[in-house]
Amino acid sequence: MAGVLGLPEGSGGVLTSGGSAGNLTALLAARQAKAGFDAWNGGPTAGPPLTVLVPESTHYCIARSVRMMGWGSEGVTPVPVDARYRLRPEALEEALAAAKRAGRRPIAVVASAGSTATGAFDALDAVADFCAKHDLWFHVDGAHGASAALSPRYRHQVKGIERADSVVWDAHKLMMMPALITAVLFRESHRSFEAFAQEASYLFNGQDTRRWSDVALRTLECTKEMMALKLYTCLSTLGTKLFADSVTDTFDLSRRFAERLQSSGDFELAVSPDCNIVCFRHTPQGIPTSELDALQVRLRESLVTSGDFYLVQTTLGGRVWLRTTVINPLTTDEDLDALLNALRRAV
Ligand SMILES: *Cc1c(COP(=O)(O)O)cnc(C)c1O
Repeated sequence: MAGVLGLPEGSGGVLTSGGSAGNLTALLAARQAKAGFDAWNGGPTAGPPLTVLVPESTHYCIARSVRMMGWGSEGVTPVPVDARYRLRPEALEEALAAAKRAGRRPIAVVASAGSTATGAFDALDAVADFCAKHDLWFHVDGAHGASAALSPRYRHQVKGIERADSVVWDAHKLMMMPALITAVLFRESHRSFEAFAQEASYLFNGQDTRRWSDVALRTLECTKEMMALKLYTCLSTLGTKLFADSVTDTFDLSRRFAERLQSSGDFELAVSPDCNIVCFRHTPQGIPTSELDALQVRLRESLVTSGDFYLVQTTLGGRVWLRTTVINPLTTDEDLDALLNALRRAV
């Protein structure tokens, strides 16, 4: 997987239970590498308070990880996003300055490769340049979208991911694996051992603590499933083309869906999709604008309880949107037309 992303020789990583655990693991490694003091043994107050620069569109698990590490709410320094919910690279300098003014030591930038609400891909090359300039750890949360690297048509969206210090990539999202299988990949494989640089001597006594197969040294979990078996079996028997095609097809399908929403006259598209996440709202004639938010909530409730479709909702720009993730490779254009018709009927 590191090879697919273009990470260099010497990269490596570990599988863990989910993107949330994966992001925490990567941030722990970032802290060991960049804090400038031993926070693992000394705790978060053994040095200056730390922070990471994070786009406003990021998954909540980043802020949660930061709080779990004891950095409080200012452990996250928000970076503004643009009209398409992508991190604004030109805002990074100001965010860095703001963090320093607040007495914080910035150690990393987290970029999204497929943000949660809209599936936006941040400009990874620009973030990599910024991190190189300021000696910051570059983490990519690619839980959803790192799989784009498999698709020749959409690989350009993750350009720059090969420059990351760490990447989180969920196989249970666009690689169709049963939950949960997440790769936490490091540009320098040994960083993986630094995330949990604690010695549980009753387990590890007398062993070579750097053995790649000692997964417990490198993850949150102790007992866990043999996740690698499913993923390795699929990759070694099916190769990557099946996964690449699935990414390409669902991204293509989502773009066609977005076009149909735009030309429908009674639906509104939030942003043109970067991947297979499409946010939209139903705007039937005769419903006042002030009632549209409540309508989306009601429509979603009605659809989900009827059982034919599953949608979630999200708030963007202060308004409520329906959000769909086209991830089943058997979903067709006709299914998505049926979704729109079901919404029309539910009004
Ligand atoms: C899904 C997702 C997560 C959380 O991953 P889990 O596997 O659900 O724990 C984190 N970040 C992003 C961008 C995601 O899409």
